[in-house]
Amino acid sequence: MTRVLISGASIAGPAVAYWLARSGFEVTVVEKAGALRGGGYPIDIRGSALEVARRMGILPRLREAHVDVRRLTFFGDDGGRIASVRPAAHGEDVEVRRGDLAESLYALVRDDVEFLFGDSIDTLGEPGDVTFRSGRQRSFDLVIGADGTHSRTREAVFGPEDRFHRYLGYCFAIFTTPNTWGLSREILMWNGPGRAAALYATRDELHAFFTFHRPQPPVEVLRDPAAQRELVAETFADAGWEIPRMVEAMRGADDMFFDTVGQIRMPGWSRGRVALVGDAAYTPSFLTGQGSSLALSGAYLLAHSLATHPDHVEAFAAYEREMRGYVAVNQALADNGAALFPVTRDALEQRNRTLRGLDAMPATAAQPAYSALVLPPEASPVR
Ligand SMILES: Cc1cc2nc3c(=O)[nH]c(=O)nc-3n(C[C@H](O)[C@H](O)[C@H](O)COP(=O)(O)OP(=O)(O)OC[C@H]3O[C@@H](n4cnc5c(N)ncnc54)[C@H](O)[C@@H]3O)c2cc1C
Repeated sequence: MTRVLISGASIAGPAVAYWLARSGFEVTVVEKAGALRGGGYPIDIRGSALEVARRMGILPRLREAHVDVRRLTFFGDDGGRIASVRPAAHGEDVEVRRGDLAESLYALVRDDVEFLFGDSIDTLGEPGDVTFRSGRQRSFDLVIGADGTHSRTREAVFGPEDRFHRYLGYCFAIFTTPNTWGLSREILMWNGPGRAAALYATRDELHAFFTFHRPQPPVEVLRDPAAQRELVAETFADAGWEIPRMVEAMRGADDMFFDTVGQIRMPGWSRGRVALVGDAAYTPSFLTGQGSSLALSGAYLLAHSLATHPDHVEAFAAYEREMRGYVAVNQALADNGAALFPVTRDALEQRNRTLRGLDAMPATAAQPAYSALVLPPEASPVR
């Protein structure tokens, strides 16, 4: 039996674990966090990825967890209301908290796959001897990096992140906060030139979100949470609206997540016995809203290729061939996403003029990029 080690238990990791286990691979997942992380910010599942979710049987559960945002209200620089609209409905799309998707995937595989929480790969030897941080040593035939944008697997095998990371000009901070605003299933969004702040209410949680433009990434704060809070507080120091309350809430938040907005672009996603999937290989950035969908679809294709090719070299090549076009068209959507956060006063004014007087977001056709991957039929399960 082929033994596979997967690093990362969020979306891509458990998804690829599910399909591999079903095809008779012996799968171990190592996750550095002590337990599966639930909750989290809302993510979308669309197009080709909806079909993956359907084939996994998790779509009904995801539909139950659907956030179903009912109202989107925009505020201007001076705090005045610009427009309050119904979000555009995109048919079958599902929006759930990242942790709801992770938990649905984990529930599918927990009995068939070995999970090692609170550990991570320390060294990857050849031909698959792995030493873990905890000191345990094991051998695997293949290793899959599903450990996110700042993947250590990628760094160990392909080199430093800066070779592959493409900065898109924004930073963001996100955290949960007590819902003293009393919001439910709605988004309040404030914009100034090059700055935005949002309150995003799911059914029972409130997420606060800051994003701001920076021509160069603030590398000096990336490993320093206290400096990140200071940078956000300084950037929004003169802003009105609800922002002073939000900055205050940020100071007390214990789950603040800060990062630059960027993409991972690599010429190849595998080397030797190691392959990457999800954000580790091709983060599209939240500007596209397609990260989870690429992770689910990529996991399906990678496992399918391994199950239907005689060896991993051919399988990895097939995965890359079939996945690359879909990744490229979805990463290109980041250019549209930047329209959410206009940088100049003129661009912001123009956007506000478009919004004023609207009652509902204009129904736009779903992006062809979302469904650009035609999934191969399921490989025959061995069990
Ligand atoms: C604010 C925000 C909003 C977003 N909005 C959307 C959206 O609307 N739609 C959408 O589709 N996507 C969205 N995304 C992106 C989405 O969350 C990711 O694309 C998706 O989670 C990728 O899944 P993944 O499994 O590849 O990586 P991740 O979810 O990043 O998971 C990586 C996992 O690996 C673990 N890990 C990291 N390092 C190690 C290590 N050394 N050893 C072991 N484990 C490790 C981590 O703890 C984590 O569990 C958003 C992201 C953010 C930050």
